[in-house]
Amino acid sequence: MASTNGDGSRTTGGRGKLYDSILDTIGDTPCVRVNRLAPDHVDLYVKAEAFNPAGSVKDRLAVSIIEEAEKSGALKPGQTVIEATSGNTGIGLAMVCAAKGYPLVVTMADSFSIERRRLMRFLGAKVVLTPRAEKGFGMYQKAEELAKANGWFVAHQFETDANAKIHENTTAREVLADFDGGRLDYFVSGYGTGGTVSGVGRVLMKERPETRIILTEPANAQLLGSGIEQERTSVGAPAVSHPAFEPHPIQGWTPDFIPLVLQEAIDGDYYHDLIPVPGPEGIAWSMRLAQEEGIFTGVSGGSTFAVAMKVAEKAAPGSVLLAMLPDTGERYLSSPLFESIDEYMTEEEIALSESTPGFHMPKE
Ligand code: PMP
Repeated sequence: MASTNGDGSRTTGGRGKLYDSILDTIGDTPCVRVNRLAPDHVDLYVKAEAFNPAGSVKDRLAVSIIEEAEKSGALKPGQTVIEATSGNTGIGLAMVCAAKGYPLVVTMADSFSIERRRLMRFLGAKVVLTPRAEKGFGMYQKAEELAKANGWFVAHQFETDANAKIHENTTAREVLADFDGGRLDYFVSGYGTGGTVSGVGRVLMKERPETRIILTEPANAQLLGSGIEQERTSVGAPAVSHPAFEPHPIQGWTPDFIPLVLQEAIDGDYYHDLIPVPGPEGIAWSMRLAQEEGIFTGVSGGSTFAVAMKVAEKAAPGSVLLAMLPDTGERYLSSPLFESIDEYMTEEEIALSESTPGFHMPKE
């Protein structure tokens, strides 16, 4: 914890403990005040999940899936784990499997960024690519096919009980503890699997009934907003692609179906309001959080923050809000988030360079 010495200089004192495993550093992410962007009449906080060891909220899910399966006996020592995932779940699972010594295979459509594949391979996973034309369904079917052929353990992030459970036991408990004795008027989150909102919802509904839970989804893929129910197989997996789905730029959010894990939050009325957000707004707010607050988050974090700002503008004076920031912006270097960021010097930077005599770059 940073604090200040008598002379005003900053100091830290260590965590007061040694860690037995990287897995013990998952969770307990900080809720950080937004000082410059938030309207003056409210207190707006963000929960920065980038502080997790593999950089996202999905580290929680990954450790939960593996440890619940170890406990139930569904996962045997040394057995290979497999999952269809394009992003943070694969990176989280790769970290957990590396720490515990399980081989991991990830199936992924070849349309996802090269850096995602390389990150997972760097963490020791095998990445099996599937044709982009077959979309999420192709990734999913390939994982099932490989698991069946080889006797592997499928993580099933969209259906497993281990998902919401870890958010109930960790994310929600952290929120309760950090806001203990103070107001918390709004909790704002998007959904991918729905684990965050279902798990946190379970707890806030009981322990902080005055907190309004605001859920958000992409403006061009309003699966919940459409009111159209998801058709499912007997195990709760999607039977068809949801008719309201369209490709959107908020990676990690809103797959082309309503996940079973999210269905709990719908059926249980866990959220009080559903506010859609256009992807470009999320990108703009992610950049503003980075440049005006020094808070580095991805497109889903920017999108959640965009909605939190809308809620904040209209909130009663003195209101306290918390927005989830699921990961770090560094994961999006080759994505539209960084499209407007130049690799070469801008006009302004060239002018700065030329304003003093030495060390000019050669003219192109
Ligand atoms: N943002 C990002 C970047 C994610 O990877 C995820 C998880 N897929 C989410 C948001 C949503 O979290 P959850 O799955 O708990 O709904």
